[in-house]
Amino acid sequence: MSPKKEYYKLLAQKIIKNLEKRNMEGYYAESPEDAVNTALSLMEEGSSVTWGGSMTMEEIGLKSRLDKYTVYDRAKAATPEEVQKIYRDAFSCDNYIMSTNAITVDGELLNIDGTGNRVSALIYGPKNVIVIAGMNKVTDNIEAAYKRARSDASVPNAIRLDMNTPCKATGLCNDCTSPDCICCQVVVTRYSRIKGRIKVILVGESLGF
Ligand code: SF4
Repeated sequence: MSPKKEYYKLLAQKIIKNLEKRNMEGYYAESPEDAVNTALSLMEEGSSVTWGGSMTMEEIGLKSRLDKYTVYDRAKAATPEEVQKIYRDAFSCDNYIMSTNAITVDGELLNIDGTGNRVSALIYGPKNVIVIAGMNKVTDNIEAAYKRARSDASVPNAIRLDMNTPCKATGLCNDCTSPDCICCQVVVTRYSRIKGRIKVILVGESLGF
């Protein structure tokens, strides 16, 4: 195992322990393929599943492995109204898959959202929330997590989504309040009221942003 992989594994073990005290479950996956298999093992076959926008989920190829589930895929919606319906249906889904913009060594999740569908499903609704995060998302503390989410995550996301925001033009966060702003909600998940509802799969690679 390379020193970096060994480092990721050791760091993940510490985070998994810290997630436990926050009523969340942690798992470590050496590779994207391991992460996909772990995620599938956490979801009952035939149950319903949807997800929040996630580059990580795209990169690891999880979407193409969901043939044994009832899938709510907003990319297949024909109208904006159908998209809204899928956002609302997420609250009664069995499984919700997402990444996180950052996770601290102490086990807190930090997420920034524009529409708010992703953070609201994280907070309440789906029975099972599966968070898949590359080790590049780990930060020392919540201040660093916020900084990471604002610069390393939101700016590339604004560019990816072709938003009319200052960061898309300059590459720097301008703390904007523009109509296209994707940083409307900042949510820190520091404890899960329902034990084990939130499951975090840490992947020993750099994934998403
Ligand atoms: S400029 Fe606006 S949309 Fe871009 S990262 Fe900053 S707050 Fe978010």
